[in-house]
Amino acid sequence: MRDVVIIGSGCAGLTAALYTARANLKPLVIRGLEAGGQLTLTTLVENFPGFSKGVQGPELIDLMQKQAAEFGTEFMEGNVTRADLSRRPFTLEVGKERLEARTLIIASGASARLLGLESERKLLGHGVSTCATCDGYFFRGKEVVVVGGGDTAAEEALFLTRYATHVSIIHRRDQLRASKILQDRLMRNEKIRFIWNSVVAEVLDPEKGEVTGVKLRNAKSQEESLKACDGVFIGIGHTPNTALFRGQLAMDELGYLLTHDGAKTSVPGVYAAGDVQDRVYRQAVTAAGSGCMAAIDAERFLEAEH
Ligand code: NAP
Repeated sequence: MRDVVIIGSGCAGLTAALYTARANLKPLVIRGLEAGGQLTLTTLVENFPGFSKGVQGPELIDLMQKQAAEFGTEFMEGNVTRADLSRRPFTLEVGKERLEARTLIIASGASARLLGLESERKLLGHGVSTCATCDGYFFRGKEVVVVGGGDTAAEEALFLTRYATHVSIIHRRDQLRASKILQDRLMRNEKIRFIWNSVVAEVLDPEKGEVTGVKLRNAKSQEESLKACDGVFIGIGHTPNTALFRGQLAMDELGYLLTHDGAKTSVPGVYAAGDVQDRVYRQAVTAAGSGCMAAIDAERFLEAEH
């Protein structure tokens, strides 16, 4: 029986681990399928306080993991395949292993949706990005495209105009889904262009290890064309990793966990931190902050029980 089990090993999970480990609660972190979280998909992180020269995303995660381990965090490879939150202790299954936990911190994150192309996967972090706030700066004076027609794509495109010479929004239909206010801003921005009714069929050029353009397919005529660019931002949304908790924890209509009074979920003793409960800020530093909140909430819950 564990005092604290943390699901997820990104910024939120590792911060929760650091805090609960320092509180002598010997947390167990289940690392998950995308171990290390979204920071491992990016390159230079320049907006994490304390690193004036920036830090590589994977290195930052590595440092956080070492720091959490230093104070006694244990790590387990694998993914939670079942969770029963209906009674305490909570029970989890990680493959064949069964765990019991007095408190649970869910930091399973959100996964950026990708188009599903092999070329896209190969160039992720090398010109293909799912986060303009993280990577936009590297495209100063360059030409980029953004895929998607919702609020995320609109925000990414607007943010990228600070750096890029031109930003082309590639959308599979001829109407945006983004809110009116963002649409107005897009239309008013001289750096933004639209490529309607088009899907990205391929990102070029995986052989060179960098983005040189995209092969587009017109969704109506099926005609193919090439568009040269230096960066591709995929803004087709994120999916919070909460499938396991459907019917057990309160969520919004998109599946993000609802928290109240800090990091509390709808079940006492279960806390949520990071992108799994955040559809607005989605930053490393806010994930870390909410990981700290979840840890302190869990610690107080355990204290009150004794
Ligand atoms: P979204 O609203 O679901 O939009 C996703 C967009 O990507 C849609 O335009 C969709 O096309 C396109 N798309 C999806 N799969 C695709 C694929 N495989 N290939 C090409 N295009 C694809 O997601 P979101 O923009 O991330 O927004 C999610 C939620 O968060 C929304 O409720 C949004 O309002 C909210 N949000 C709000 C803000 C804000 O208020 N500032 C910022 C970000 C997000 P179709 O239009 O054809 O379906």
